[in-house]
Amino acid sequence: MLLKLDQIATSRRTPKVVAPMVAPQDGPLDIEVPEAEGLGASITTLDRVHAAHTEGYGAVLRTARRAALDFRAEFAATGTPLHVSSHDLVTAPYPTKFGLWRAPSSPAPYVFLTNRMLVVRWHDSDGTLRTLLWEPSDAELVANTAFYRSVAEATPDFLVEKLVTNYGDVVPRAIAAGIDPAEVDYVAFDHLHTQDVRRLVGTTKPQGDISPDAPVQAWFPNARLIVQRHELLAMRDLHPLQKPWYQPETFVDIDPAKYLVIDGDRLLAPGVALIRTPGHATGNQTLVLNTGTGIWTLSENAVGAECMTPEHSRIPGVAGWASKWGQEVVMNANTIETTATQYNFCIVEKLLADRSQQDERFLQFYPTSELTASPFGPGVKPTFTHGGLTHDA
Ligand SMILES: [Zn+2]
Repeated sequence: MLLKLDQIATSRRTPKVVAPMVAPQDGPLDIEVPEAEGLGASITTLDRVHAAHTEGYGAVLRTARRAALDFRAEFAATGTPLHVSSHDLVTAPYPTKFGLWRAPSSPAPYVFLTNRMLVVRWHDSDGTLRTLLWEPSDAELVANTAFYRSVAEATPDFLVEKLVTNYGDVVPRAIAAGIDPAEVDYVAFDHLHTQDVRRLVGTTKPQGDISPDAPVQAWFPNARLIVQRHELLAMRDLHPLQKPWYQPETFVDIDPAKYLVIDGDRLLAPGVALIRTPGHATGNQTLVLNTGTGIWTLSENAVGAECMTPEHSRIPGVAGWASKWGQEVVMNANTIETTATQYNFCIVEKLLADRSQQDERFLQFYPTSELTASPFGPGVKPTFTHGGLTHDA
């Protein structure tokens, strides 16, 4: 029997109307971007890499290699900080096609990444003890990022519980490390993807979701968020390609005085530097540390030390893919708007880092989200992990 046209229309499966994960935005958000401050000392050695961006990507890469080796020699001579220690926060799944990009042959949909907070301490030249928390992610609020909400909504609760391992929240981890929250001077991230810093530095107004009756009290009342000016500018007016990864609305009620805006590369202390490494995010920065085992670079530009020397990776597919396509690194590629720039700054990170004293095939590139073995990640088990990082002068 033939159906009439209107019957055909109603008999088709009506698609479910899906609410957008990110709301369209009419104009820039009301996020104040303060002027940059002169934290520590200016580093200008790598400026020529950024200036070279009017040339082609290949020319920039050559400039990056030379500049990185120049900076490496200068930085190693600055000394070392008082203390560095790492503190595990959470291990969670992350799409394999982002973390290891096109390299692995495993069909496993997820790799597993461990987020760690670092405590870095030094004395300023006047003797003042300074404390930086690097990557103190508020895991509970990070989960509200549009991308992670979409994964959570597609995953049964019992499975989420199996896939995610929490080791402790930021404040208990800091206290366990002997840090009084009131003595934290700085908090900083490699970039602000997924971050919601309201509980770290407080807000100026009540927040409907977490503090409806009063402004949010800061976990670290004296801390300021060190952030690259370009990262705040990007957050104020995100492009659709960037939106799944940010929570910009959570920055609107942060007191601008809580931002310590920098615009360039800075030497915070002997053996402690923040350098711009754009590409993965516009305002991306890498923490560079000099320790008793030499220089470390820390960012999310790659998810494993082996991604910086992929020829030594035993993850099926990785070494072969890198060799076939002449890639010196395997990038974390969840953002693709400026991938060649990310590659060039991965090379800077690669050339700055010393070899691991545990296994010299791998570099002291310490991913802020480090690839971790899991029974749920067959075929993507890391060949090598740094695990923890400790240094005491
Ligand atoms: Zn990111």
